[in-house]
Amino acid sequence: MNPGDLARWASDPRHTRGRRIAEALSPPRNEHQRDRDRIVHSTAFRRLVYKTQVFLNHEGDLFRTRLTHSLEVAQLGRSAARALQLNEDLVEAIALAHDLGHTPFGHAGQDALHDCMASHGGFEHNLQSLRVVDRLEVRYPTFDGLNLCFETREGILKHCSRHNAERLVQAEAEGPGQRFLDGTRPSLEAQLVNLADEIAYNAHDIDDGLRSGLITLEQIGQVPLFARWRDEVLAEHPGLAEQPGRRLLFETLRRLLSAQMGDLVASTAQSLADAAPADADAVRALPPLVTLSPGLRAQNAELKRFLFAELYRHPQLVQSTALAKTVVAELFAAYLAAPAEMPPDFAQARDIPRAVADYIAGMTDRYALREHHRLTGRRLFA
Ligand code: MG
Repeated sequence: MNPGDLARWASDPRHTRGRRIAEALSPPRNEHQRDRDRIVHSTAFRRLVYKTQVFLNHEGDLFRTRLTHSLEVAQLGRSAARALQLNEDLVEAIALAHDLGHTPFGHAGQDALHDCMASHGGFEHNLQSLRVVDRLEVRYPTFDGLNLCFETREGILKHCSRHNAERLVQAEAEGPGQRFLDGTRPSLEAQLVNLADEIAYNAHDIDDGLRSGLITLEQIGQVPLFARWRDEVLAEHPGLAEQPGRRLLFETLRRLLSAQMGDLVASTAQSLADAAPADADAVRALPPLVTLSPGLRAQNAELKRFLFAELYRHPQLVQSTALAKTVVAELFAAYLAAPAEMPPDFAQARDIPRAVADYIAGMTDRYALREHHRLTGRRLFA
């Protein structure tokens, strides 16, 4: 990506709002490539490989993990960024970092940790992702965190409660918390990663759901968005209906993904042409410009409803996530009662409940299970 290839509303790395601690440039890399490199080399990034996306990490080797999910989001985001002349490096950096703050055991882990932290300021994974890159990574001689550019940090902080935004702004005026008080939008690159995230997990959760056997091809065939592409594939390749194996599914999912990304690029190009923002900053005061067409949005909502009802709330998934919540809650209680069970950096922190949350949030699924067994003597998963 050369700066000359960027649309005038793209985030230009030469005009970044910069890092909290000034550093010399690192040519030939631009500042957003450099952020991407820092993220890939971080400890939190490597941990994503053993963190649950939807299916618990130990339940099968082929399910998505937080790492493979993040790579898929980066792939979708980058190809749309290139088509739209947005900043592909920034999109990649945000996509690779967007889930760094996730706890072990997916949303069950996050809910359990939030409950444990109810009287200590709560726990929110988006805010935690920012905390990881701002403070928790320990890699540089003179500062904590990765010292990323404003635009990358802004993209990582996708949601934020007003209360948390006020706290962020107190510590850093005009930082990434500010837009939640002003009601403005983030960069187009951040908006793109948000939507690519959703498109990625809708598609891969169908695949993982079928692989797990918790949903069937007949069931998902009731969802119009899926049925449309499956019917098209079958019309072209009637033999696939009879064949065992996964070619029908993969070809259907491939077309579904392409159709959604094609729609995203066309709809966004249109809204950008209509709004004609003067530059990257003008985008922040406008309504969201990275969009899907209304028709596809409605079909997506239907798919999401299906996945909630039939997959995410499936009794078998609910049962294993209930066990995962117990692991997190018991770990929290154990460390709170005996902080010295944590490494010194955490054990000697001034705010022990927050240090316990940081320590648990950083764990991989299997490390959390090992620690739980060490501290309680019990194994909740066979
Ligand atoms: Mg995600």
